[in-house]
Amino acid sequence: MENNNLKITICHLYPKLLNLYGDIGNIKALKFRAEKREIEVQLKEVNVGDDIPDADIYFIGGGQDRQQIDVSYELQKHKEFLLQKRDENKVFLAICGGYQLLADYFQPIEGEKLIGISLLSGYTIGGKKRFIGNVTAKTEYTKPETLVGFENHSGRTYLTGDTKPLSKIIVGNGNNGEDSTEGARYKNVFGTYLHGSFLPKNPHFTDYLIKLAIGNEIELSELDNTIEMDAHKSLINKPY
Ligand code: GLN
Repeated sequence: MENNNLKITICHLYPKLLNLYGDIGNIKALKFRAEKREIEVQLKEVNVGDDIPDADIYFIGGGQDRQQIDVSYELQKHKEFLLQKRDENKVFLAICGGYQLLADYFQPIEGEKLIGISLLSGYTIGGKKRFIGNVTAKTEYTKPETLVGFENHSGRTYLTGDTKPLSKIIVGNGNNGEDSTEGARYKNVFGTYLHGSFLPKNPHFTDYLIKLAIGNEIELSELDNTIEMDAHKSLINKPY
């Protein structure tokens, strides 16, 4: 199907500070799969000091505790604007360190508490042991239900209020290693600990985000996902 005149704007927040383990691949997957459906994609990069533009999808990647400090301060300046975008049901995808900062706060094991912007309700506390390895989880939002990726974080995230988990852990630690939850969702704001990159090996979830951005009533044509699903399957239930 041709989707003439459809266009999405993707805004990449702070790629110079937060971009671990190929997080940029998430932007590439969104762009690739949208353009295959003849949806025009405009990319906008936002760095420290820049205004944040209107966009359909906002993406923020993972990072070290050090880089998260600068982003935490910068995000405060844009908190009201981004809360407004959330309430307009714009799509947000936040990975690991970015996920922690879209929630209420991250208290690392050493150093200052990093204040988030509360697009999601929940908080993160640094733990002594890092959670590192492959993750398989199950989400209610897509078919197939499995999500796969790679986690590497010290933070333990606990969700509160109306923010719900994105998926349920099958293999790996996810949010906190205790309650079998992985990631978060509130409205169309999604957070996850899955790097790797996340979207290239979860094409069904990539399409889910594109549909949320363009409107659920618009059908996306099928693509040949053989390579993406081979990557996906190669990680399913791979021992941690
Ligand atoms: N610094 C954070 C933590 O260790 C986030 C790490 C990451 O983004 N990979 O929890």
